[in-house]
Amino acid sequence: MNKIAIYPGTFDPITHGHRDIVMRASQLFDRVIIAVSENTHKNPAFEFDERIALAKEVLAEYKHAEVIGFNNLLVDFAREQNANTIIRGLRAVSDLEYEFQLASMNRKLSPNIETIFLMPDEQYTYLSSSIVRQVAELKGDISNFVHPSVAKALTGKHS
Ligand code: ADP
Repeated sequence: MNKIAIYPGTFDPITHGHRDIVMRASQLFDRVIIAVSENTHKNPAFEFDERIALAKEVLAEYKHAEVIGFNNLLVDFAREQNANTIIRGLRAVSDLEYEFQLASMNRKLSPNIETIFLMPDEQYTYLSSSIVRQVAELKGDISNFVHPSVAKALTGKHS
């Protein structure tokens, strides 16, 4: 049986932290679907299509990973993709409250889908898309945190 996992998020934009989680998930599952969410309360800086295109470019080297956009309920999307695992990244205790709520709700909605949490390499525990956007906005060097194509896209936004 193929083990398929969904890694959902806003990916606004994808960072080395996200990539680290995909790399770890790829070692555990036959197929990892990076599910870029269109409907988000976060009011993203990048358009839906841009977030997908950047994730595809960054993750091209991971042969078992596939980037797909979605705009329905996550558990419904997971079911459509025959995935019974949701992956989320945990950076610090501060992530836990929201992630616990989300995983509990998803379990209520679909008891057969399990959420598992992966920790990134220590060097990425402080990294978030929003902090990278803030640094880029103030013309700081973001080359250590994101793929060159993401850095270029961010620089383009603030030039
Ligand atoms: P969302 O809006 O769903 O939180 P994000 O793109 O911000 O979307 O994050 C998607 C997932 O990736 C979340 O589980 C988040 O905790 C995780 N994540 C984000 N940045 C990192 C990082 N630097 N290291 C590990 N996990 C991360």
